[in-house]
Amino acid sequence: MIVAIDGPSGSGKSSVAREIARRCDLTYLDTGAMYRSVAYVCLERGVDPDDADAVAKVARDVTIEFVPDGDGQRVLANGEDVTAQIRTPEVELAVSPVSANPRVRETMVALQRAAGERGDVVAEGRDIGTVVFPGADVKVFLSASPEARARRRAVQRGGGNLATGDAVSVDARAEQKILEDLVRRDAYDSSREASPLRPADDAHHIDSSELSFEDVVSAILGLSPELATRAEGRLA
Ligand code: C5P
Repeated sequence: MIVAIDGPSGSGKSSVAREIARRCDLTYLDTGAMYRSVAYVCLERGVDPDDADAVAKVARDVTIEFVPDGDGQRVLANGEDVTAQIRTPEVELAVSPVSANPRVRETMVALQRAAGERGDVVAEGRDIGTVVFPGADVKVFLSASPEARARRRAVQRGGGNLATGDAVSVDARAEQKILEDLVRRDAYDSSREASPLRPADDAHHIDSSELSFEDVVSAILGLSPELATRAEGRLA
């Protein structure tokens, strides 16, 4: 079975997709981490993210692996553990032009489909329901207000845990910067020519602004009898 979860930055896709994968015994595929890894390798090699040919070559040559690690997973790019490095502001700036490059997308989509062929997957990103897996069994478009998304990112960066509700104090200026960054990336992702961020026609829309993490997970499990059965099976 394939579950596609798309939406803008900070909508809670990653935490929710990871939890659905855990409860339903599916493999979690973080496609944003793949574009981030390409952007990271470009920066490491001094490749200009706007140099379309050079970036396409990096994407073709890179090896990206996801290695299970406790409750999460680590990301390896060409064998190097880049889990933390792909979350820096430098990479966040470079990833927009990298992911707007049609040849990079072609290469990443092929890798993502290959992962889907191996079996049960919950994939999250921007174009999963529209391009990568248009025939997905369940499609979700998860959104939230920019303010709600910036707050969540700020809490995560501060070491808080959205799934458990562990809170931390958040610096207002840092949150404002995150908000500006999210709005910039959304605008870029939504207006690019190659696979812009948009919901699939048959996606279920969930606005998580006022919902708890558990509410969102339950809403998604409720969309498909197979998902619900899988989740119950794991609990039993
Ligand atoms: O989801 P995440 O914030 O990690 O994604 C990082 C960037 O990768 C996004 O801003 C977007 O530009 C790009 N992306 C994409 N298509 C996907 C997943 C991510 O273009 N399927």
